[in-house]
Amino acid sequence: MSCVVIVGAQWGDEGKGKVTDYLASRADVVVRYQGGNNAGHTVVIGSQEFRLHLIPSGIFYPDKVCIIGNGLVVDPEVLFQELDGLLARGVKNGRLCISDRAHILLPCHKRLDEAQEDARGNQKIGTTRRGIGPAYVDKVSRVGLRTGELLEPGWEDYVSQLVEQKNAVFEKLYGVPGFDPAEIVVWLKPYAERMRPFITDTSLLLSRYLAEGRHVLFEGAQGTLLDLDHGTYPFVTASSPAAGGACTGSGVGPTAIDRVLGVCKAYLTRVGEGPFPTELMGVDCEDLRQRGMEFGTTTGRPRRCGWLDLVMLRYAARINGLSGLIITKLDVLDHMPKVRLCTAYRRGGEVLKEFPASLRVLRECEPVYEELDGWQQDTSGIRRYEDLPEAARRYLQRISEITGVPVVMVSVGPDREQTIVLQEVF
Ligand code: GDP
Repeated sequence: MSCVVIVGAQWGDEGKGKVTDYLASRADVVVRYQGGNNAGHTVVIGSQEFRLHLIPSGIFYPDKVCIIGNGLVVDPEVLFQELDGLLARGVKNGRLCISDRAHILLPCHKRLDEAQEDARGNQKIGTTRRGIGPAYVDKVSRVGLRTGELLEPGWEDYVSQLVEQKNAVFEKLYGVPGFDPAEIVVWLKPYAERMRPFITDTSLLLSRYLAEGRHVLFEGAQGTLLDLDHGTYPFVTASSPAAGGACTGSGVGPTAIDRVLGVCKAYLTRVGEGPFPTELMGVDCEDLRQRGMEFGTTTGRPRRCGWLDLVMLRYAARINGLSGLIITKLDVLDHMPKVRLCTAYRRGGEVLKEFPASLRVLRECEPVYEELDGWQQDTSGIRRYEDLPEAARRYLQRISEITGVPVVMVSVGPDREQTIVLQEVF
């Protein structure tokens, strides 16, 4: 038996989709534990590209169990669009289970997200406007609707009340029209029926799989620096992508987890607002963006790009208790004559080695770089670590030395095959 958590070690978009898809082939069960359809994973299989927002990456294997854990907020419309889209493209879905404790995202959450972002003016958080934050607010306010309620009679009245409460907020606070509660009930009814066979106590299910000695893979969405508690607050997501979230978001205790692997790009990107000490500007940024195709999976937004920040990565290693690193997109740096690693920050006369809590401090940080030779060689066809150019191996080795975490896997292209394994995960 093995229980492995995969977390994004940066600001998301690290290539977790590809990595989880790769590792899912060796797992029996794949679990999403937080977020909603604000996440976006791209999985490339042969000539086909798939974009997943809610469904675990294990869905491409018909023999795997895919679990949407209690830590998620589920927009039923998006869920079924995604499932139907996969079926239409010939993906024979693995078994999908949805926690009876996951929360439902309603159209009013989406509208609230938009109204709130608009009202923030130039103080925008940069949310995806898909209602994820407001759905979590309802969860924390203890008025949310859980999938399990849809199995019980009378949920219609509850939904009507919830919509009426939201209407008051729309009208009084944001001056935007609300919803007809009856229409929301009519909207939800067919989804409630379709969801019924998928809804179950997934914590119980997981405990049985673990007792049977199955391999379980937890698939984190977003990234550590977007974690509500540990990320660059307030430019964070409304859930807990860090490894601790795998337990609360699935109902599996911490003692069951064997390994935590951090996925990290060979450089760094960020979507939306907030300080980014190693950010590149102008043509340097554009070069990485084009080569790495750094545009949001869910929103299409161009990502900000910069050098790999090891102050941040060491922080991610600590927060998650990382036991291994998976470095992705090494190939994107193939052409560079020199590559840089940020090993510390300079702020005024001071050198900072630890990632600060305050964004004001982070904004004033200048990166201290270690410059290494580039390898200027195509790595996309390489499948063994020993075959990587020496300068590329040196780069990976420095990342490992400075963070204190071994590199267990390297990705050199979007395809499943373009993977170099240094240590088997399962
Ligand atoms: P995720 O949310 O962490 O899964 O990341 P995204 O899916 O948003 O972004 C990763 C993008 O990079 C996708 O388009 C992947 O197909 C692609 N990708 C993943 N690994 C590699 C790699 O090693 N090299 C290259 N060039 N692209 C990769």
